Amino acid sequence: MAGEAEQQLRAYVDYLRDLGVYDLYRRGAPGLEADLGLTSEAAEPPPEMSAAPRVAVSSVEISQPVATPVTRSVSARPQAIDVAPPIKKDFSESEIPKPISFDNLTPLPEVRFAAAHKPAALNAIREDIGDCTRCPLAYAGRRKIVFADGDPSARLMFVGEGPGADEDAQGLPFVGKAGQLLNNMIGAMGLKREQVYIANIVKCRPPANRVPEPVEANTCSQFLLRQIDVVQPQVIVALGSTAATYLLGVKQSLAGLRGKWHSCRGAKVAVTYHPAFLLRDPRQKGEAWKDLQMVMKELGLKAAAKG
Ligand code: SF4
Repeated sequence: MAGEAEQQLRAYVDYLRDLGVYDLYRRGAPGLEADLGLTSEAAEPPPEMSAAPRVAVSSVEISQPVATPVTRSVSARPQAIDVAPPIKKDFSESEIPKPISFDNLTPLPEVRFAAAHKPAALNAIREDIGDCTRCPLAYAGRRKIVFADGDPSARLMFVGEGPGADEDAQGLPFVGKAGQLLNNMIGAMGLKREQVYIANIVKCRPPANRVPEPVEANTCSQFLLRQIDVVQPQVIVALGSTAATYLLGVKQSLAGLRGKWHSCRGAKVAVTYHPAFLLRDPRQKGEAWKDLQMVMKELGLKAAAKG
């Protein structure tokens, strides 16, 4: 009985989080996330996004002149320490770091990477990350750093919040049940997973799948920003409120962000529900499909035929 109540509470907390209620953990009940042992992902994919015969659409080369890769400075990696630094939980309103949009973190690149140079440029970012200890998530039980997956020249990029248990184990983003649903969403758009680029705001799993703390997201963002500047997608889909918050530098409910275009690093940004949220609340699948149709129209994609 206690287990059932805990499960219901946990589902409700996740639901609120996906709707953009951010500060529940911080202000509501100290240690709540640990007590709840938060997990995600537990349902079947929605019928309208289920695996269907996919129409292959070749990715289009965006690039033009061969560009000199843009070099960005990355702060020196601090010495590894044995004990995780404590994360301050009780911030006053003025102490909570405000999200800064990716566009305001650094100037937009002046050159575009040629497609042939993108894999090496992304590898260089991965090498910069190394066995990263730049934020507290390095000491929070992560197994693998989850860099990204997909086509370095993709026209379409998906950005989620952070790795879950399956992703942490495999070192790849979106490979659990939510990942299966994302694959189905991509398939319904007439694409294959290999034709898009998938990454997260943070590259290490937050303990108990909690929302990344601002200091973690702000620290890790430098790498995602560089990845976006290399891939230079035409469209980015922010999956869930955490991705939207950090990409766009705004703190709004998904309802206020969905259904219109935003901008990030020269790409158009659409905001939709995180697949893990859709697994918890399948009633929103139709709404998510509307968001994806907006993206398809922009990219000239046709929905996969139903099989
Ligand atoms: S989340 Fe990002 S910044 Fe933090 S330790 Fe992992 S790779 Fe480094």
